[in-house]
Amino acid sequence: MNYSACFDIGGTFIKYGVVSEEGKVLLHGQTETPQEDTPNRIPDILTEKIQYFKTHYPIKNIGISSCGLVDGTEGKVLFSSNIKGYSGLRLADIVEARTGLSVAVENDVRSACLGEMWLGAANGKKDVVLLTIGTGIGGAIVINGQLMRGAGNLAGELGHMSIVHDGESCPCGGRGCLERYASTSAFVRYYQNLAGNQLEDIRGKEIMELVHKNDQAALDAYQLFIDYLSTGLVNIAHFYNPEIIIIGGGITAQGDSFLADIRESYNQKVMELYKQSTRLELAELHNNAALFGAYAAVNYKTSRTN
Ligand SMILES: [Zn+2]
Repeated sequence: MNYSACFDIGGTFIKYGVVSEEGKVLLHGQTETPQEDTPNRIPDILTEKIQYFKTHYPIKNIGISSCGLVDGTEGKVLFSSNIKGYSGLRLADIVEARTGLSVAVENDVRSACLGEMWLGAANGKKDVVLLTIGTGIGGAIVINGQLMRGAGNLAGELGHMSIVHDGESCPCGGRGCLERYASTSAFVRYYQNLAGNQLEDIRGKEIMELVHKNDQAALDAYQLFIDYLSTGLVNIAHFYNPEIIIIGGGITAQGDSFLADIRESYNQKVMELYKQSTRLELAELHNNAALFGAYAAVNYKTSRTN
């Protein structure tokens, strides 16, 4: 049995566990992400957990799913806006030197995509796009079984495709980006504008409850959100023609009714031939998705280097 030590490094928590090749998660837990001296303290936390895991299971390798921009080939963090001092950290080299085990570090959205290909919605598929919808929008692209990394490891920033010329300005420096129109923050903004209450602290989940109660402002906000999101999905289908576009993030908790709405809007816009070959599905991995992604990332790396 193959066991990997797996980590999910986010801005608030580091989640960890041992993942078996059967997809079981063992000895899992989480600890707060250090906010100071991160280039030393993050590797310290990982090394300490790995030592503990090794006393229980024969750990073969180490998978790390990380926030920020990551060079997955080198296992290096290129840029992180939410962990101070983390940018530039050669995490794989450090953890490899300390443990003697092979380490993969991959961006969290790319890891999640590999995880869905292992145990989730894209099992058995080779041409896959994952779009994660949260306060922003992240993307990962797999073509013929290979992660598309790009010349500077920056491929897949699907949230920053511009869909509105001269539209809303975006923290990336551009305008009209998909994530300014089809993220949960955009959904909340639509609702607040339509309901005429910009002060109320409301979340996407609560607006969805209003949608189900036929609240007019919530319904209109939802329609706008679906309309912009499907425009982004149609662009992705026309660019890559993947077998599947997986939609992930908290919105997937809405389940089948959300999927039906987004498919209907997509089918109205996409070219006829794409309707059959590029299907929309929701992400299937929820609990421990990031740890499965980390496992998939290290085994993806191993499969490519052998
Ligand atoms: Zn942008």
